[in-house]
Amino acid sequence: MKEANSVIKYIREVYKSNDFIPLHEPRFVGNEKRYLEETIDSTFVSSLGKYVDKFEGMMAQISETKKAVAVVNGTAGIQVALNLVGVQPGDEVLTQSLTFVATANAISYNNATPIFLDVDLDDMGLSPSALQNFLNTHAENREGHCFNKLTGKKIAACLPMHTFGFPAKIIEIVRICKEWNIPVVEDAAESLGSLYQNKSTGSFGDIGVFSFNGNKIVTSGGGGALVTNNDNFGINAKYLTTTAKRPHAYEYFHDQLGFNFRMPNLNAALACAQLENLDKFLNDKRELAEMYSEFFRSTSIKFRKELDDTRANYWLMAVELENRTSRDQFLKITNEAGVMTRPIWQLMYRLPMYKNCYRDKQENAEYLEERIVNIPSSVRLN
Ligand SMILES: *Cc1c(COP(=O)(O)O)cnc(C)c1O
Repeated sequence: MKEANSVIKYIREVYKSNDFIPLHEPRFVGNEKRYLEETIDSTFVSSLGKYVDKFEGMMAQISETKKAVAVVNGTAGIQVALNLVGVQPGDEVLTQSLTFVATANAISYNNATPIFLDVDLDDMGLSPSALQNFLNTHAENREGHCFNKLTGKKIAACLPMHTFGFPAKIIEIVRICKEWNIPVVEDAAESLGSLYQNKSTGSFGDIGVFSFNGNKIVTSGGGGALVTNNDNFGINAKYLTTTAKRPHAYEYFHDQLGFNFRMPNLNAALACAQLENLDKFLNDKRELAEMYSEFFRSTSIKFRKELDDTRANYWLMAVELENRTSRDQFLKITNEAGVMTRPIWQLMYRLPMYKNCYRDKQENAEYLEERIVNIPSSVRLN
C-alpha cells in the first residue's frame, strides 16, 4: 500500500496539521456558548424550555416535514418510531446488515426480529431489488398486513438507512413497501442535510429519525429527532417519549407505558446553535469532497461520490480499496501515522446477538465490508 503515505501527506495538508487528525470532530463556531449560558441562567436546563420547542421547529423546517419531536438520542428515536408505526413483540422488521448496530438494536428493543437484506453497491443503502426479491419470494398480504410465509410472523416495518449520508433509493423503497402494506421508518441518523430528488432524507417514510450524537454532522451532545408528515405519529411521538402523561394543570395521570426519552433543554440549546451553521458545514464538506475526489483520481483508491439526483451531506467521506489486504494495510499505516481512518461496520449477522437472524445473499454488503474505509471528514476551521 505505497499510496497510503501520499494520502497521509494530503490529509495533513488539507487540515493544516501535524498532530493527530480525528475522523470527525464537532465544530462550535456559532452561538453555542451564548445559548448554553442563557439556558443555565434561565434555570430551565432540563425537560422544559424554549430551546426544545425552537429545535423542533427548526428540524421540521430543515427536514420539510409537518412535525419534529426532540428525543434523548437517535437510537431511542428509532425504537419509538418503530413502536408508533405498529411494530409489536414477535414481529419482523426488514433492514440492511450493513449498518451501525443501533439500527438493529432499535428493532430488538421492541422485541421484534431484524431480517437482513442486501444493500446496493452504489449508495450502500438498502437495495430495492433485494427488498422486492425477498417480498416476492417469502411474503404474503393478509387483512391489510404483510406476513412472512417462512415464519408466519408479521413484517411490521422496513428500516432503511442512509449510509454515511449518501441517500438510499428511498422513493423506490417506499413504493415497494406501500404495495406490501409495510410502514417505512428511515434511519436518517447520518443524513441530516442529504437530499434525494431535492427532498430531505427522513421525509419520505412514515417517520424519519436523525441523530445529534457528538460524531454526527451537527451535535446536541447527545440527542435525536423524529420527523413526520403524519399528524397522529407526531402527536403520539411527543406523548410516548414524555411519559404518556395526560395534560392537566396538576394531576399525574399516565394512560400508557410511556418513555422518558426527552431531550434536555441544555442539549436543545446546543443543537439550535449548531443547526444555524448546518448550511455552512454542508458547503465546507462538499468542497472537501471535491478536493478528495480530485486527489484520489490519480490513485488506485476510489473516492465515493454522491449519485445523480441526490445530494449527500458528506458526513463521513468514504473510499474504496481494491481488496481486504490493501484495506488492512491502508488502515494500519494511516492510524499508526496519527491520521484516523476506520473500516465500515462489520455486518450485523457477524455479531453474536444477530448471528441467527434471517439474511438474504449478502454479495454487495460483503463486498463493501471488505473495502470501504472512512477518512477524516471534519468541517475545516479557517
Ligand atoms: C448514530 C447512529 C444511530 C444512533 O444515534 P445515537 O444518537 O447515537 O443513538 C443510529 N443509526 C445509525 C446508522 C447511526 O449512525
